[in-house]
Amino acid sequence: PETSLATELQSRMRDVPDFPRPGIVFKDITPVLADPVLFQRLIHAMAEPFREQRITKVIGVEARGFILGAPVALALNAGFVPARKPGKLPHRTVAERYSLEYGSDGLEMHHDAVLSGERAIIVDDVLATGGTAEATAKLLAQVGGELVGFSFLIALGFLDGVKRLGAQRVHSLITL
Ligand code: AMP
Repeated sequence: PETSLATELQSRMRDVPDFPRPGIVFKDITPVLADPVLFQRLIHAMAEPFREQRITKVIGVEARGFILGAPVALALNAGFVPARKPGKLPHRTVAERYSLEYGSDGLEMHHDAVLSGERAIIVDDVLATGGTAEATAKLLAQVGGELVGFSFLIALGFLDGVKRLGAQRVHSLITL
């Protein structure tokens, strides 16, 4: 029988202990990205829950959210919008500060990248505390976009992040 996508993904991701600092088990998705068949199945599955949702923008969070978000946008016939670390975007931005599993940071988005009333989703590889995704949702709210949901490869950490974002809006292929 065909191995389930979740099982396949889990077996191909690498756990890297103590990266980028002691106590963090880093989920390395690069072996999944390097496999053309698995990468394509992954993108299809991350887009699937939103196919009939009239999504016009996919927001990808720097940096691995770019890698996953851009092909998910194409799969949904939507545009792609980068949410970036402070100071990286050249045009006028909206900004949010947030705390994350290893440190604190900020995110910015171009103020005109999503128009008021546009239906958008947020894409990233890993959901941990939910701080990053919540900050991205606030960027979207600042410009008046409608948040339809979140799509992650993995949700970690006893579902605290899922609860923080609103469970019914969060899709993840693997929950650990
Ligand atoms: P959080 O804001 O705590 O939900 O953390 C999510 C952000 O940090 C995402 O952009 C992830 O790519 C990254 N991240 C957090 N924890 C991990 C982890 N264990 N492995 C890989 N990336 C992680």
